[in-house]
Amino acid sequence: MGSMGYVNYLKGLERSQWFKRKDLEKLQERKLRYLLKTSYKHVPYYHDLFKKAGITPEEIRSLDDLEKIPVLTRESLKTQTNRFIANNIDPRKLIPDYTSGTTTGERLSIKRLKETYDRAISAELRAYRWYGAYRKMFYYVTGTDVDVEKNRTLKKRLYNFVTKTITISPLEFSMKKRLDRFLKELKKNKRRVLYGTPSGICKLVDILDERNIDINLDVIISTDEPLLKEQRKYLEDRYGCEVYDIYGTSEVWGIAFECSLHGLYHITSENVIVEVVNENLERVSPGERGRILLTDLNNTEMPIIRYDIGDFGIISDDECECGRGLHALRPIDGQMVLRETNYILSSSGKKIFLPEFGFLLEDHSKVKQFQILQRSRKKILVRIVKGRDYDKKTEESIFRRLLSLLGDVEIEFRYVKDIPFDKNGEHRYVMRTEFTRSP
Ligand SMILES: [Zn+2]
Repeated sequence: MGSMGYVNYLKGLERSQWFKRKDLEKLQERKLRYLLKTSYKHVPYYHDLFKKAGITPEEIRSLDDLEKIPVLTRESLKTQTNRFIANNIDPRKLIPDYTSGTTTGERLSIKRLKETYDRAISAELRAYRWYGAYRKMFYYVTGTDVDVEKNRTLKKRLYNFVTKTITISPLEFSMKKRLDRFLKELKKNKRRVLYGTPSGICKLVDILDERNIDINLDVIISTDEPLLKEQRKYLEDRYGCEVYDIYGTSEVWGIAFECSLHGLYHITSENVIVEVVNENLERVSPGERGRILLTDLNNTEMPIIRYDIGDFGIISDDECECGRGLHALRPIDGQMVLRETNYILSSSGKKIFLPEFGFLLEDHSKVKQFQILQRSRKKILVRIVKGRDYDKKTEESIFRRLLSLLGDVEIEFRYVKDIPFDKNGEHRYVMRTEFTRSP
Protein backbone atom coordinates (compact mmCIF):
# COMPACT_ATOMS: atom_id res chain seq x y z
CA MET A 1 0.00 0.00 0.00
CA GLY A 2 1.57 3.21 -1.21
CA SER A 3 0.15 5.41 1.53
CA MET A 4 1.71 3.20 4.19
CA GLY A 5 5.22 3.82 2.86
CA TYR A 6 6.20 5.66 5.98
CA VAL A 7 5.78 2.52 8.10
CA ASN A 8 8.67 0.80 6.36
CA TYR A 9 10.80 3.93 6.33
CA LEU A 10 10.20 4.41 10.02
CA LYS A 11 11.23 0.83 10.73
CA GLY A 12 14.40 1.41 8.74
CA LEU A 13 15.19 4.63 10.58
CA GLU A 14 14.62 3.04 13.96
CA ARG A 15 17.34 0.55 13.07
CA SER A 16 19.78 2.89 11.37
CA GLN A 17 19.84 5.41 14.23
CA TRP A 18 21.98 2.87 16.11
CA PHE A 19 24.44 2.34 13.24
CA LYS A 20 28.01 3.40 13.82
CA ARG A 21 28.74 6.81 12.41
CA LYS A 22 31.09 5.49 9.76
CA ASP A 23 28.38 3.13 8.53
CA LEU A 24 25.92 6.00 8.38
CA GLU A 25 28.48 7.90 6.34
CA LYS A 26 28.79 4.99 3.94
CA LEU A 27 25.04 5.09 3.55
CA GLN A 28 25.19 8.84 2.95
CA GLU A 29 27.88 8.44 0.32
CA ARG A 30 25.90 5.79 -1.50
CA LYS A 31 22.82 7.99 -1.58
CA LEU A 32 24.89 11.02 -2.51
CA ARG A 33 26.43 9.29 -5.52
CA TYR A 34 22.99 8.39 -6.81
CA LEU A 35 21.68 11.91 -6.16
CA LEU A 36 24.55 13.48 -8.09
CA LYS A 37 24.31 11.05 -10.96
CA THR A 38 20.61 11.63 -11.46
CA SER A 39 20.90 15.40 -10.89
CA TYR A 40 23.54 15.68 -13.58
CA LYS A 41 21.54 13.61 -15.98
CA HIS A 42 18.06 15.02 -15.41
CA VAL A 43 18.22 18.40 -13.70
CA PRO A 44 19.12 21.34 -15.98
CA TYR A 45 20.48 23.52 -13.18
CA TYR A 46 22.94 20.89 -11.94
CA HIS A 47 23.87 19.72 -15.39
CA ASP A 48 25.03 23.24 -16.25
CA LEU A 49 26.56 23.79 -12.83
CA PHE A 50 28.73 20.68 -13.12
CA LYS A 51 29.74 21.52 -16.67
CA LYS A 52 30.71 25.06 -15.71
CA ALA A 53 32.66 23.86 -12.68
CA GLY A 54 34.38 21.25 -14.84
CA ILE A 55 33.36 18.30 -12.68
CA THR A 56 31.54 15.07 -13.35
CA PRO A 57 29.38 13.27 -10.80
CA GLU A 58 31.77 10.30 -10.91
CA GLU A 59 34.50 12.43 -9.37
CA ILE A 60 32.48 12.86 -6.22
CA ARG A 61 32.76 9.62 -4.33
CA SER A 62 33.01 10.69 -0.72
CA LEU A 63 31.59 13.25 1.68
CA ASP A 64 34.87 15.15 1.41
CA ASP A 65 34.55 15.36 -2.37
CA LEU A 66 31.23 17.12 -1.93
CA GLU A 67 33.20 20.31 -1.33
CA LYS A 68 33.96 20.50 -5.06
CA ILE A 69 30.33 21.37 -5.81
CA PRO A 70 29.51 25.09 -5.72
CA VAL A 71 27.16 26.25 -2.98
CA LEU A 72 23.48 26.77 -3.77
CA THR A 73 22.02 30.12 -2.77
CA ARG A 74 18.40 30.96 -2.08
CA GLU A 75 18.67 33.47 -4.90
CA SER A 76 19.45 30.74 -7.48
CA LEU A 77 16.70 28.53 -6.16
CA LYS A 78 14.26 31.42 -6.32
CA THR A 79 15.12 32.78 -9.74
CA GLN A 80 15.57 29.43 -11.48
CA THR A 81 13.05 27.28 -9.63
CA ASN A 82 11.90 25.40 -12.71
CA ARG A 83 15.43 24.43 -13.68
CA PHE A 84 15.69 22.42 -10.46
CA ILE A 85 12.97 19.99 -11.40
CA ALA A 86 14.10 16.67 -12.84
CA ASN A 87 12.89 16.11 -16.37
CA ASN A 88 12.34 12.38 -15.88
CA ILE A 89 9.55 12.85 -13.33
CA ASP A 90 5.86 13.11 -14.16
CA PRO A 91 5.06 16.67 -12.97
CA ARG A 92 1.55 15.60 -11.97
CA LYS A 93 3.07 13.42 -9.26
CA LEU A 94 4.95 16.29 -7.64
CA ILE A 95 3.47 17.74 -4.46
CA PRO A 96 4.48 21.33 -3.65
CA ASP A 97 5.40 22.66 -0.25
CA TYR A 98 5.96 26.36 0.36
CA THR A 99 8.70 28.00 2.34
CA SER A 100 7.69 30.78 4.67
CA GLY A 101 8.06 34.18 3.08
CA THR A 102 11.08 36.32 3.68
CA THR A 103 10.69 39.86 4.97
CA THR A 104 9.68 40.90 1.47
CA GLY A 105 7.08 38.16 1.46
CA GLU A 106 8.29 36.00 -1.41
CA ARG A 107 7.84 32.26 -1.10
CA LEU A 108 9.59 29.33 -2.69
CA SER A 109 7.79 26.25 -3.82
CA ILE A 110 9.68 23.01 -3.21
CA LYS A 111 8.32 19.95 -4.94
CA ARG A 112 8.61 16.33 -3.94
CA LEU A 113 7.15 12.95 -4.69
CA LYS A 114 5.00 11.40 -2.02
CA GLU A 115 7.73 8.86 -1.29
CA THR A 116 10.15 11.66 -0.43
CA TYR A 117 7.63 13.18 1.96
CA ASP A 118 7.12 9.77 3.53
CA ARG A 119 10.83 9.49 4.21
CA ALA A 120 10.91 12.97 5.74
CA ILE A 121 7.80 12.36 7.82
CA SER A 122 9.33 9.12 9.11
CA ALA A 123 12.25 11.08 10.54
CA GLU A 124 9.79 13.28 12.43
CA LEU A 125 7.91 10.26 13.68
CA ARG A 126 11.16 8.71 14.89
CA ALA A 127 11.82 11.80 16.97
CA TYR A 128 8.24 11.78 18.29
CA ARG A 129 8.99 8.28 19.56
CA TRP A 130 12.07 9.58 21.37
CA TYR A 131 9.89 12.23 22.97
CA GLY A 132 6.96 10.02 23.92
CA ALA A 133 4.83 12.09 21.57
CA TYR A 134 4.12 9.46 18.97
CA ARG A 135 0.45 9.09 18.07
CA LYS A 136 -0.67 11.64 20.62
CA MET A 137 -2.88 14.59 19.84
CA PHE A 138 -0.82 17.41 18.35
CA TYR A 139 -1.80 21.05 18.75
CA TYR A 140 0.05 23.12 16.19
CA VAL A 141 0.69 26.78 16.89
CA THR A 142 2.63 28.00 13.91
CA GLY A 143 2.62 29.65 10.52
CA THR A 144 0.17 32.01 8.88
CA ASP A 145 -3.53 31.42 8.41
CA VAL A 146 -2.72 30.58 4.79
CA ASP A 147 -0.14 28.04 5.94
CA VAL A 148 -2.69 26.55 8.27
CA GLU A 149 -4.95 25.86 5.30
CA LYS A 150 -2.10 24.61 3.12
CA ASN A 151 -0.79 22.52 5.95
CA ARG A 152 -4.17 20.96 6.41
CA THR A 153 -4.26 19.99 2.76
CA LEU A 154 -0.70 18.71 2.73
CA LYS A 155 -1.08 16.87 6.01
CA LYS A 156 -4.41 15.38 5.07
CA ARG A 157 -2.85 14.11 1.91
CA LEU A 158 0.27 12.84 3.58
CA TYR A 159 -0.04 11.92 7.20
CA ASN A 160 -3.11 13.06 8.96
CA PHE A 161 -3.81 9.43 9.65
CA VAL A 162 -0.52 9.08 11.55
CA THR A 163 -0.63 12.28 13.54
CA LYS A 164 -3.84 13.81 14.75
CA THR A 165 -3.52 17.54 14.61
CA ILE A 166 -5.45 20.70 15.36
CA THR A 167 -3.82 23.82 14.02
CA ILE A 168 -3.93 27.52 14.72
CA SER A 169 -1.75 30.31 13.42
CA PRO A 170 -0.57 32.93 15.92
CA LEU A 171 -2.12 35.39 13.45
CA GLU A 172 -5.49 33.82 14.27
CA PHE A 173 -5.27 34.51 18.02
CA SER A 174 -7.10 37.76 17.38
CA MET A 175 -9.90 36.00 15.50
CA LYS A 176 -12.36 35.12 18.20
CA LYS A 177 -14.13 32.25 16.46
CA ARG A 178 -10.96 30.45 15.43
CA LEU A 179 -9.38 30.91 18.83
CA ASP A 180 -12.50 29.67 20.62
CA ARG A 181 -12.66 26.61 18.41
CA PHE A 182 -8.99 25.84 19.04
CA LEU A 183 -9.33 26.25 22.81
CA LYS A 184 -12.41 24.05 22.85
CA GLU A 185 -10.46 21.29 21.11
CA LEU A 186 -7.49 21.84 23.38
CA LYS A 187 -9.60 21.26 26.47
CA LYS A 188 -11.06 18.04 25.10
CA ASN A 189 -8.00 15.81 25.10
CA LYS A 190 -5.79 14.47 27.83
CA ARG A 191 -2.60 13.36 26.02
CA ARG A 192 -1.51 16.60 24.50
CA VAL A 193 1.53 17.65 22.55
CA LEU A 194 1.93 21.36 21.97
CA TYR A 195 3.95 21.92 18.83
CA GLY A 196 4.94 25.23 17.34
CA THR A 197 6.91 28.43 17.53
CA PRO A 198 8.05 29.36 21.03
CA SER A 199 6.61 32.86 20.65
CA GLY A 200 3.27 31.45 19.54
CA ILE A 201 3.25 28.89 22.35
CA CYS A 202 4.15 31.49 25.01
CA LYS A 203 1.44 33.79 23.71
CA LEU A 204 -1.04 30.93 23.85
CA VAL A 205 -0.05 30.31 27.47
CA ASP A 206 -0.82 33.99 28.22
CA ILE A 207 -4.22 33.58 26.59
CA LEU A 208 -4.91 30.45 28.65
CA ASP A 209 -3.95 32.39 31.78
CA GLU A 210 -6.25 35.27 30.93
CA ARG A 211 -9.10 32.82 30.55
CA ASN A 212 -8.13 30.74 33.57
CA ILE A 213 -7.79 27.62 31.48
CA ASP A 214 -5.57 25.06 33.16
CA ILE A 215 -4.30 22.20 31.01
CA ASN A 216 -1.70 19.46 31.29
CA LEU A 217 0.80 18.90 28.55
CA ASP A 218 2.75 15.73 27.84
CA VAL A 219 5.41 17.31 25.67
CA ILE A 220 6.20 20.65 24.07
CA ILE A 221 7.98 20.64 20.72
CA SER A 222 9.49 23.87 19.48
CA THR A 223 10.01 24.56 15.80
CA ASP A 224 10.35 27.24 13.10
CA GLU A 225 11.79 29.86 15.44
CA PRO A 226 14.80 29.99 17.73
CA LEU A 227 13.98 28.55 21.14
CA LEU A 228 15.59 30.75 23.78
CA LYS A 229 16.86 28.93 26.84
CA GLU A 230 14.80 31.30 29.00
CA GLN A 231 11.63 30.30 27.12
CA ARG A 232 12.52 26.65 27.47
CA LYS A 233 12.91 27.03 31.20
CA TYR A 234 9.68 29.01 31.52
CA LEU A 235 7.71 26.36 29.66
CA GLU A 236 9.36 23.45 31.50
CA ASP A 237 8.65 25.01 34.90
CA ARG A 238 5.20 26.03 33.90
CA TYR A 239 4.00 22.65 32.64
CA GLY A 240 6.46 20.29 34.29
CA CYS A 241 6.99 18.58 30.96
CA GLU A 242 9.89 18.09 28.59
CA VAL A 243 10.54 20.70 25.93
CA TYR A 244 12.29 19.58 22.76
CA ASP A 245 13.58 21.64 19.91
CA ILE A 246 13.53 20.54 16.30
CA TYR A 247 15.10 22.07 13.22
CA GLY A 248 13.56 21.82 9.82
CA THR A 249 12.80 23.97 6.82
CA SER A 250 10.46 23.62 3.89
CA GLU A 251 13.47 23.31 1.60
CA VAL A 252 14.76 20.30 3.53
CA TRP A 253 12.40 18.77 6.05
CA GLY A 254 13.47 17.46 9.46
CA ILE A 255 17.17 18.39 9.53
CA ALA A 256 17.91 17.82 13.22
CA PHE A 257 16.04 16.85 16.36
CA GLU A 258 17.07 17.43 19.92
CA CYS A 259 18.21 14.21 21.57
CA SER A 260 15.78 12.78 24.10
CA LEU A 261 18.61 13.25 26.64
CA HIS A 262 18.83 16.92 25.58
CA GLY A 263 22.36 18.24 25.11
CA LEU A 264 22.96 17.43 21.46
CA TYR A 265 20.78 17.71 18.39
CA HIS A 266 20.75 14.65 16.17
CA ILE A 267 20.97 15.22 12.46
CA THR A 268 18.77 13.00 10.32
CA SER A 269 21.91 11.53 8.76
CA GLU A 270 19.96 9.07 6.62
CA ASN A 271 18.14 11.93 4.88
CA VAL A 272 20.36 14.98 5.08
CA ILE A 273 24.03 15.92 4.89
CA VAL A 274 24.84 18.92 7.07
CA GLU A 275 28.13 20.70 6.37
CA VAL A 276 29.49 23.67 8.26
CA VAL A 277 31.72 26.10 6.35
CA ASN A 278 33.44 29.42 6.95
CA GLU A 279 32.83 32.65 5.04
CA ASN A 280 35.13 31.41 2.26
CA LEU A 281 32.89 28.35 2.03
CA GLU A 282 35.63 26.01 3.28
CA ARG A 283 34.70 23.28 5.74
CA VAL A 284 35.49 24.01 9.35
CA SER A 285 36.43 21.43 11.96
CA PRO A 286 33.88 19.95 14.32
CA GLY A 287 33.41 22.30 17.26
CA GLU A 288 33.86 25.40 15.10
CA ARG A 289 30.98 27.64 14.25
CA GLY A 290 30.12 28.31 10.62
CA ARG A 291 27.44 28.53 7.94
CA ILE A 292 25.21 25.53 7.52
CA LEU A 293 24.92 23.88 4.09
CA LEU A 294 22.23 21.30 3.49
CA THR A 295 21.99 18.44 1.04
CA ASP A 296 18.73 16.52 0.85
CA LEU A 297 19.62 12.91 0.07
CA ASN A 298 16.09 11.83 -0.82
CA ASN A 299 14.71 14.53 -3.05
CA THR A 300 16.00 13.53 -6.48
CA GLU A 301 12.97 15.14 -8.16
CA MET A 302 13.94 18.67 -7.11
CA PRO A 303 17.45 18.27 -5.75
CA ILE A 304 18.75 20.58 -3.06
CA ILE A 305 22.54 20.22 -2.89
CA ARG A 306 24.80 22.29 -0.61
CA TYR A 307 22.06 24.81 0.09
CA ASP A 308 23.03 27.85 2.14
CA ILE A 309 20.02 28.18 4.40
CA GLY A 310 21.27 31.30 6.19
CA ASP A 311 21.91 29.68 9.58
CA PHE A 312 25.03 29.20 11.65
CA GLY A 313 25.77 26.04 13.59
CA ILE A 314 28.41 23.81 15.14
CA ILE A 315 28.94 20.17 14.26
CA SER A 316 29.76 18.10 17.30
CA ASP A 317 32.31 15.33 17.25
CA ASP A 318 31.15 13.89 20.55
CA GLU A 319 29.47 10.55 20.84
CA CYS A 320 26.04 11.08 22.30
CA GLU A 321 25.32 9.29 25.56
CA CYS A 322 22.14 7.88 24.08
CA GLY A 323 24.27 5.66 21.86
CA ARG A 324 22.81 6.79 18.55
CA GLY A 325 25.35 7.05 15.76
CA LEU A 326 23.58 9.94 14.08
CA HIS A 327 25.64 13.07 13.48
CA ALA A 328 24.93 15.91 15.84
CA LEU A 329 24.85 19.66 16.18
CA ARG A 330 26.04 21.22 19.40
CA PRO A 331 23.99 24.13 20.73
CA ILE A 332 25.34 27.67 20.58
CA ASP A 333 24.38 29.56 23.71
CA GLY A 334 21.45 27.21 24.20
CA GLN A 335 20.33 27.29 20.58
CA MET A 336 20.60 24.67 17.90
CA VAL A 337 21.39 27.21 15.18
CA LEU A 338 21.72 30.95 14.90
CA ARG A 339 19.85 32.77 12.19
CA GLU A 340 21.97 34.95 9.99
CA THR A 341 19.69 37.98 10.29
CA ASN A 342 18.97 37.73 14.03
CA TYR A 343 21.49 40.15 15.46
CA ILE A 344 22.00 43.73 16.60
CA LEU A 345 25.26 45.58 15.98
CA SER A 346 27.09 46.90 19.02
CA SER A 347 28.52 50.40 18.92
CA SER A 348 31.86 48.87 17.97
CA GLY A 349 30.29 46.91 15.12
CA LYS A 350 30.18 43.48 16.74
CA LYS A 351 27.22 41.24 15.90
CA ILE A 352 25.27 40.44 19.03
CA PHE A 353 23.03 37.48 18.27
CA LEU A 354 19.58 36.87 19.67
CA PRO A 355 20.45 34.44 22.49
CA GLU A 356 22.39 37.24 24.22
CA PHE A 357 19.14 39.15 24.57
CA GLY A 358 17.26 36.16 25.96
CA PHE A 359 17.79 37.47 29.50
CA LEU A 360 14.87 39.82 28.90
CA LEU A 361 12.59 36.77 29.12
CA GLU A 362 14.17 35.40 32.32
CA ASP A 363 11.11 36.19 34.37
CA HIS A 364 7.77 35.98 32.63
CA SER A 365 6.07 37.89 35.43
CA LYS A 366 8.26 40.86 34.51
CA VAL A 367 8.62 40.74 30.74
CA LYS A 368 6.16 38.81 28.62
CA GLN A 369 7.62 39.71 25.27
CA PHE A 370 10.18 42.05 23.79
CA GLN A 371 11.48 43.37 20.53
CA ILE A 372 14.71 45.26 19.96
CA LEU A 373 14.89 47.57 17.00
CA GLN A 374 18.15 49.05 15.84
CA ARG A 375 17.43 52.34 14.11
CA SER A 376 21.06 53.24 13.64
CA ARG A 377 24.38 52.10 15.08
CA LYS A 378 23.75 54.27 18.13
CA LYS A 379 19.96 54.23 18.47
CA ILE A 380 18.11 51.30 19.99
CA LEU A 381 14.40 51.04 20.62
CA VAL A 382 13.18 48.34 23.01
CA ARG A 383 9.52 47.38 22.93
CA ILE A 384 8.31 45.56 25.98
CA VAL A 385 5.08 43.86 26.93
CA LYS A 386 5.11 44.19 30.71
CA GLY A 387 4.19 41.47 33.14
CA ARG A 388 2.55 42.30 36.47
CA ASP A 389 5.87 42.53 38.37
CA TYR A 390 7.64 44.88 36.01
CA ASP A 391 8.88 48.00 37.76
CA LYS A 392 11.46 50.75 37.55
CA LYS A 393 14.15 48.40 38.86
CA THR A 394 13.46 45.95 36.06
CA GLU A 395 13.90 48.69 33.52
CA GLU A 396 17.17 49.82 35.08
CA SER A 397 18.53 46.31 35.11
CA ILE A 398 17.57 45.71 31.46
CA PHE A 399 19.07 49.07 30.56
CA ARG A 400 22.39 48.20 32.23
CA ARG A 401 22.62 44.78 30.64
CA LEU A 402 21.86 46.16 27.20
CA LEU A 403 24.54 48.81 27.62
CA SER A 404 27.08 46.19 28.59
CA LEU A 405 26.24 44.23 25.43
CA LEU A 406 25.91 47.09 22.99
CA GLY A 407 28.34 49.68 24.32
CA ASP A 408 27.80 53.37 23.90
CA VAL A 409 24.25 53.51 22.51
CA GLU A 410 21.07 55.44 23.16
CA ILE A 411 18.29 53.17 24.44
CA GLU A 412 14.64 54.10 24.38
CA PHE A 413 12.02 51.94 26.12
CA ARG A 414 8.53 51.75 24.77
CA TYR A 415 5.80 49.86 26.60
CA VAL A 416 3.15 48.26 24.46
CA LYS A 417 0.15 46.02 25.05
CA ASP A 418 1.13 43.62 22.35
CA ILE A 419 3.80 43.09 19.70
CA PRO A 420 2.19 41.85 16.50
CA PHE A 421 3.48 38.69 14.85
CA ASP A 422 5.02 39.23 11.43
CA LYS A 423 3.49 38.17 8.13
CA ASN A 424 4.72 34.62 8.67
CA GLY A 425 3.07 34.38 12.07
CA GLU A 426 6.49 34.55 13.72
CA HIS A 427 7.87 36.91 16.31
CA ARG A 428 10.80 39.10 15.36
CA TYR A 429 12.93 39.63 18.46
CA VAL A 430 15.60 41.76 16.87
CA MET A 431 15.42 43.96 13.80
CA ARG A 432 17.61 46.46 12.07
CA THR A 433 16.12 49.24 9.96
CA GLU A 434 18.41 48.34 7.05
CA PHE A 435 16.40 45.13 6.78
CA THR A 436 12.93 46.46 7.36
CA ARG A 437 11.82 49.81 6.15
CA SER A 438 8.47 49.64 7.92
CA PRO A 439 8.96 48.07 11.36
ZN1 LIG B 1 21.55 11.37 21.66
